[in-house]
Amino acid sequence: MKIVVLDGYTENPGDLSWESLEALGTLTVYDRTPGDKVIERIADAQAVYTNKTPITGETIEKCANMKFIGVLATGYNVIDIKAARSANVVVSNIPSYGTDAVAQYAVALLLELCHHIGEHSDCVKAGEWSRSRDWCFWKHPLVELAGKTFGVIGFGRIGQRTAKIAEALGMKIVAYDERPVKELEGENFRYVSLDELLSMSDVISLHCPLFPSTEGIINKDTIAKMKDGVKIINTSRGPLIVEQDLRQALDSGKVSGAAVDVVSEEPIREDNPLLGAKNSIITPHIAWAPRESRQRLMNIAVSNLKAFMEGNPVNVVS
Ligand code: NAD
Repeated sequence: MKIVVLDGYTENPGDLSWESLEALGTLTVYDRTPGDKVIERIADAQAVYTNKTPITGETIEKCANMKFIGVLATGYNVIDIKAARSANVVVSNIPSYGTDAVAQYAVALLLELCHHIGEHSDCVKAGEWSRSRDWCFWKHPLVELAGKTFGVIGFGRIGQRTAKIAEALGMKIVAYDERPVKELEGENFRYVSLDELLSMSDVISLHCPLFPSTEGIINKDTIAKMKDGVKIINTSRGPLIVEQDLRQALDSGKVSGAAVDVVSEEPIREDNPLLGAKNSIITPHIAWAPRESRQRLMNIAVSNLKAFMEGNPVNVVS
């Protein structure tokens, strides 16, 4: 079997081994693959792995040898699933390798918005023990989270784990999910409608997948329904937010802080409206990337292909 990894650098910048995948066939690993090189690189491959490199309907149609696409991620929006299904190409994803990592990261983003630790540290290292009172208390005010409400949109694996950490910080939890699991409700957690969540949350954290129904779920209309001074965290997918609308809300102070690990177009475009926004943090889609989760991801990626080769595909997305 010929196996091609289109953008292997993202999972394995050199600290992990490809040996277990090499054991399954002839392996070629590319660091990254530009869109116009995808077809040429996978034309004679039976199994293709991608993290962020799109595999379009046209690619699927032109690469008839391809029988298996392994998505090296949880979100599989880079694949034209409909085209894969009609061409009988099995698509497997990695459902839960990074649950702890992403939840931990979402809370790290929130804590940074609340404490500005990086900026206070930079200030001390620059020889200013404590800058002006205005700088400390007005420009970078510290915020206590205990007693505040943490609203989760998409209460699946990562949403639930993030909520657990927020709960440990003393926050009350509410969630909006299109498929609520009522048994999860308890003293400190209940499901609410989207409108209720928007109006009662001090922090809104996005954990739903990117679907046509969720694209732009944070926009000027939904922002208008939020509490003044709300904070928004996005570790899910960039297009969940209409970035221009968030920028305006950050400028006006309606949203007091936003921290995103994902943006509408990645790598970020120079004209992304969030780049110049105040009280914002942008990181390069790395929430999933501790070595521990990347190793877990590689192990599952290999077992997905093994299961496919044995005729019992697992983690199939449809
Ligand atoms: P999951 O499938 O366990 O949970 C998703 C939840 O969203 C489910 O409970 C589902 O019912 C809910 N949902 C679906 N459509 C909805 C809608 N229209 N409105 C409200 N809720 C809806 O997935 P997960 O493992 O928790 O991952 C969540 C997302 O996190 C992934 O889709 C992916 O985009 C993102 N992710 C990001 C990183 C990163 O590095 N930043 C890493 C892994 C995953």
